[in-house]
Amino acid sequence: MNQNIVIVGAGFAGMWSALSAARIASSQNRADITVTVIAPQPELRVRPRFYENNPETLVSPLLPLFAATGVHFVAGTVTDIDDAAHRVTYTGENGREEVLNFDKLILASGSALNRAGIAGAAEFAFDIDQAESAGRFDRHLHDLAGRESSAARNTFVVCGGGLTGIELATELPSRARAVLGENADIRVIVVERGDKIGGRFSDEMRSVITRASQALDVEWRLNSTVEAVQQDGVLLTDGTFIPALSVILTAGVNASALTARIAGEKDARGRLHVDDNLKVIGQEDIYATGDVAYAVCDEEGRHALMTCQHAIPMGKFAGNNAAAALAGIAPLPYRQPGYVTCVDLGAWGAVYTETWQQNVKSVQDEAKKIKVSITNTLIYPPEADKEKAFLQADPLAPFV
Ligand SMILES: Cc1cc2nc3c(=O)[nH]c(=O)nc-3n(C[C@H](O)[C@H](O)[C@H](O)COP(=O)(O)OP(=O)(O)OC[C@H]3O[C@@H](n4cnc5c(N)ncnc54)[C@H](O)[C@@H]3O)c2cc1C
Repeated sequence: MNQNIVIVGAGFAGMWSALSAARIASSQNRADITVTVIAPQPELRVRPRFYENNPETLVSPLLPLFAATGVHFVAGTVTDIDDAAHRVTYTGENGREEVLNFDKLILASGSALNRAGIAGAAEFAFDIDQAESAGRFDRHLHDLAGRESSAARNTFVVCGGGLTGIELATELPSRARAVLGENADIRVIVVERGDKIGGRFSDEMRSVITRASQALDVEWRLNSTVEAVQQDGVLLTDGTFIPALSVILTAGVNASALTARIAGEKDARGRLHVDDNLKVIGQEDIYATGDVAYAVCDEEGRHALMTCQHAIPMGKFAGNNAAAALAGIAPLPYRQPGYVTCVDLGAWGAVYTETWQQNVKSVQDEAKKIKVSITNTLIYPPEADKEKAFLQADPLAPFV
């Protein structure tokens, strides 16, 4: 009888789960193990690049890779998971409700920006979280060229000064000038609740981010919280109103709402607690990986972050372990002690650090080369070649 591994999501974690599970099925000569990915599109959407121009083009097709490696693909959006009945319900391409049964399920449905709690955000704020919303912001930016120059047209307010906010804010001066003219009086303001620029990063790294912000004239408004977004600007809780036609939210990412369909403990961002094999604690046949998993990643008890740096190896381990359970072989505990940070800083360059202490290793052009090699090559899917893809899908193959 066939044994079905169903993977929800074709992002970094889902794609690598599929390749890794197919690798085990192939190496164990288990033609009865079927690996199926279900996602709305058969493409890897390269979210870490969505602060760039033309974000909708930053996707990579997956069907040739899946065909080469024997992975099945079903186009659909999962709407429900019945953990007891081992069944997922999804809306297929034709809009009809369908079901898929699983022996092992890997949840890899990623994360999404949460706009709740900010008045007017749903109507007037932009974001760069998904291909569609990043594309909408890109089109809006181009449309600004057709509007009369004004302080509101030329002002971009980035709400949230974390990684995504910093990358967008430092990219915006050159991106906006390319559209509105080299002499346009562009103003980019980061509204940040914390009291430090880049407060989530090491002091050494923060001083680099501060230097880059100064060089690019990116203003930081610290200790500030957004009260409401309006058609013509943003209101802060201290009563300040900043006129701006472009308000972009970057803070407040939560795990996919599908995590709520699975019984099990969750962290504050909705991520499912998993064991060392990335199996959801309390579930026998359900794994969680990537942004939906709250997983210990090293011997010091640190937890993986919601980054593709973690989602890629976590995908490989989850796929390996789901298939290993069906093939009757030992699982591989997920461990990823190494950690690097590379933040794009627009026309100024980038900053690259190593270790969890974030020791700065390179800045400006040198770091930018590393950033480009990561985002334009390293995180893309492997070639549609079974042997090469399986080599890279090995959880123990070096990554970073
Ligand atoms: C602007 C931006 C910049 C970033 N920069 C960095 C960076 O510099 N470095 C870094 O490491 N990380 C970065 N990240 C984070 C990184 O993109 C995520 O951590 C990573 O994408 C998580 O991978 P994932 O596979 O878990 O989820 P995703 O890549 O989000 O993939 C989720 C998949 O699930 C599918 N899906 C969702 N819901 C359903 C459903 N109901 N049914 C079926 N399928 C579903 C989606 O279509 C998609 O295929 C950035 C993210 C953003 C938005």
